Formats: sequence, C-alpha cells, structure tokens
Amino acid sequence: MRLVVKFGGTSISTAKNIRSVARFIHSLSRKNQVIVVCSAVNDVTDQLLDISEFIQKGNKDSANSLMLKIIKEHKQLAKDSVLSQKIRKKLFEKLDSSLSELEGLLHGMILLGEVTPRSLDYLISFGERLSIEIVSHALSDLKEKSVTLTGKDVGIVTDSNFGSSKPLMDTTRLRVSKTLEPLLGKKAIPVIGGFAGADQHGHITTFGRGGSDYTATIIASCIKADEVWLMSDVDGLMSADPKLVKNAKVIPEVSYVEAMEMALFGAKQIHPRSFEPLLSKKIPMRIRNTFNVENPGTLVTATPDEATNRTVKCVSAIRHNGLIDVRGGSMVGAPGTAATIFSLLAKAGVNIMMISQSPSESSISIVVKKNDLDRAVNTLEMNLLGKVIKKIDVTIDVAIIALIGSGMRGMVGVASKVFGAAARNKVNVIMIAQGSSELNLAFVVKDNDCESVVKALHDEFNLANNH
Ligand code: ASP
Ligand code: MG
Repeated sequence: MRLVVKFGGTSISTAKNIRSVARFIHSLSRKNQVIVVCSAVNDVTDQLLDISEFIQKGNKDSANSLMLKIIKEHKQLAKDSVLSQKIRKKLFEKLDSSLSELEGLLHGMILLGEVTPRSLDYLISFGERLSIEIVSHALSDLKEKSVTLTGKDVGIVTDSNFGSSKPLMDTTRLRVSKTLEPLLGKKAIPVIGGFAGADQHGHITTFGRGGSDYTATIIASCIKADEVWLMSDVDGLMSADPKLVKNAKVIPEVSYVEAMEMALFGAKQIHPRSFEPLLSKKIPMRIRNTFNVENPGTLVTATPDEATNRTVKCVSAIRHNGLIDVRGGSMVGAPGTAATIFSLLAKAGVNIMMISQSPSESSISIVVKKNDLDRAVNTLEMNLLGKVIKKIDVTIDVAIIALIGSGMRGMVGVASKVFGAAARNKVNVIMIAQGSSELNLAFVVKDNDCESVVKALHDEFNLANNH
C-alpha cells in the first residue's frame, strides 16, 4: 500500500519516542510505500508564537533566550536520537544551517520590532523544519534511505492568506507528484514538514494551528495514496471525552462527514479542512496512537457500511463559552438585522460558534468563545443597542453539548431522549440548534451541568456498546 503517515508533536517529543517512531516507519516500509509527514516537536510552535509576542512587545531578551532554549533542546534531541557518529554529524550540519537562518530572521524581526502576518508564518514554520531533520536522520540511523522536504520543497503552493492559507490544488498536485514519484521510485522515504507551504511568490505560508493534518491529506490526494494515517497520542475518535466519561470507547468506524463534525467539536483535534483533499479521491483515513500501535484506531471512510450508518457515534462538549441573547421588537420582519449583527461581530474579529433565532424573529442567541465575549458585547452595545436591539443578556460560562452521528437521521424520538435525559438530571437547556443534515444535535447548558449531561447522554444512547 501507499501510505501517508503523519506524526503529531507528542509522538516525537523525546529521543526515545523519535527512535520508536523511526522503528515503526522502518517496519511499515518493508511492505508499503511510506511517506512521512511531521509536526513540530511538542510545544515548539507555541514557543515560536511566544517569541513573536516578545518581539511585538519589544522584549528582545526574552525573545533571544527562548530561541536559545529551542536551539538547545533540538540539539539535545538530535544527539540522543541518532547513534551513528557520522549520521549525527550530518544531522548537526543540517540543523545548524536552519538554525542560523532562524537566528537571522529573528534578528531582522527584532530590529524592525515588527511582526507581520508574513514574517510570523516564516517564523513559526521553523518547528517543522527542525523536526523533520531529526526524524529523517533517525531513519538513516536504521539504514533507511530518507529525504527531508519542507512544504515548500515538496511543492505545496498556497494562496497568500498568511496564517490560514489554502492550497492551490491544481498546481500543488502537479508539483507534489513530480517531486515525490521519483523519490518513491528510488525507495527513499520522504519526511515532509507539515503545517506550511509557500505562496506563488515563494513566501512561506501556514495552514493554521494543527495544519500538519492538512498537509498529510493534501499530499495523500496528490499522489493517490491508499490510506492516510494520523498518528497522535490518543487511540482514535472516542464516544466521549474519557476525562468526563469513564467508559468512553474508541469508535471503530465513522464517515467523513461525521469525522468533520467531531473534528469541530474536538476531543481529538483534527484540522477542520483536512477532509477536503480526501473527498474526491475517497481516500480512507485512520486515526491511530503512536504509543499503542496494536490498536487499529478509528477508520474514517467515504463509504461507511450499513451498520456504521445506523449508529449515534458520540457526545462531545465545547466548554467555557459565552452566550449572548439579543432582543428587540424592531428586529421583527426587518430584513438585514441578522446580517448587521453578524457583520459587526465579524469586523470585531469575533468567531461565532452557534446561533439560533426564534421564529418570532424578536430574539437571536449567539454563542462565542469566552475570550471573545467582552469584545462581542461591547461591539453590539456600541453600535446597535437602543436602535434595532432593545436588550442584551449575557450568560458567562456555558458549554455546547453535541450529539453526533448519522444514526440520528430520520430516527424518531432523538430529541425527546436527549431532553428527557437532561430533565431527569435537572439540567436546564438554554438553547438548541440542529442542522437539517440531522447529523448533529447541539444544545447549550451552564458549564456546571456539562459533566452530568454528557454522562447521561452517553448512557442514554448506549455509546459504550454501540459500535
Ligand atoms: N506545529 C503546528 C501546530 O502546533 C502544526 C501541527 O502541529 O499540526 O499547530
Ligand atoms: Mg502541534
């Protein structure tokens, strides 16, 4: 099989882990053509973002000392991950060349005292540039032929939307297959840096946090892989967050659409765009645990079997959000009210997570992240209060609970089971939304009630034994 295998940051967080990842790839490559995609080493992207904040605040010393820490840790990791002196030396040469580029960049950014979206993407792409060298040389240490490539090297061309770019798939497809096919022909294992690509001018761009998943599926689609595997530190997609529900289970199989819903509601975070490149080619994805490779994980497929289609898959919670309720008689029958509210919030940079409007049109409820709550309320008060809006109510600390699964489609009585379970647990439901796909029933409760209602629904729908 032709496999694209992506490793997350925790999978390569220590030398021991890197060596076991290398052994895993080595054994996979006996029977398969393997293409590896790596995230940055655990926490490194966050540290690079911290550096950018220090620069913005003019805190040069902190920026420099954090960079020194990153350099030191990668060198130590490199030293411990590779046994052969000769290969270690090569690895250090590679790292040194990337690290001096990083130092140069930092210097420039500190001098300017400025962080632009473009320089930020360039900066935070370094995590993956460093990690791929270590993983690739650990493979050489096992006498495996391997080549490192950044997203730009491999041919991922994106738009210039720094921070959340999208690939230009036609160009990318041509370039990626032209780069990778000859390498695969020579039995070399490509180790590709996730998260980043380059725009048409050659400037480094990133896909947004968690973007290495997206890199893996883009590559898989370009070279018509048989499967793409996302390796992380969890066993797969779960029927609920195991921290909330003790008997939560790994779900063996879900459809793309269900996985997309689950990615958004994220017990296991997957970059939400990751499924797009797979859709047309119907490439299956497996979500597996690097630290428990015996476990088959979750299969995400375009063609789920009948039994899979009939089940409710999971109940998940997005905790600690804010709810805004806007009311006013003049909202009734006034086209454009919703548009005004939402475009004001968009301009203020507030992301809306959930909405519902009463059919009387006199109230709209909006859920936003807690961090955005003050900004959202201020914006609405300043611009609309006393005009279209008569009253704004705010509830801080609410949780969105979502029941997900294609089994709900056309199933009579789902809502009554859900709200019956909530009522028996004396949980008040504040707001409800269901998309007409019937794949997802979401409602809002006070965060205090989150745990009990998630447990109740997990039992009510028998999610531990459902699969
Ligand atoms: N290193 C990047 C991040 O932490 C991309 C990824 O891990 O997928 O967001
Ligand atoms: Mg990461």
